[in-house]
Amino acid sequence: MNCVFCRIASGEIKTDLVHADDEIVAFRDLNPQAPTHLLVIPRRHVATTNDLSPEDAPLVGRLALVARDIARRLGFADAGYRLVLNCNADGGQSVLHVHMHLLAGRQMAWPPG
Ligand code: AMP
Repeated sequence: MNCVFCRIASGEIKTDLVHADDEIVAFRDLNPQAPTHLLVIPRRHVATTNDLSPEDAPLVGRLALVARDIARRLGFADAGYRLVLNCNADGGQSVLHVHMHLLAGRQMAWPPG
């Protein structure tokens, strides 16, 4: 299993999980781009959003809802946050396992870089 996020999800790489359930885990980004920077990922390996099937719609919805629940639990839901899904090279995706970035704790810029 060469995928680093699969290895985190399986527990092979030890990381403090901010959230864990039967299909989704969340953990802190190694190279944070904001005071709070979490990654919310499906346990199942899906390389990019291009590889999602119609049956994955509830899973993708749950990524956003888990992120929302974490934002509430950590106390920044009302202040605000940003959710990002990067896809492939032009999208800036460096890890080929679908992940939702949850960024918070500072004013975000727009347009994104
Ligand atoms: P992306 O560029 O959208 O593919 O995002 C991948 C993110 O994963 C980057 O923000 C990296 O800092 C982060 N990352 C890579 N390896 C790890 C790791 N072992 N633990 C936590 N975050 C990681």
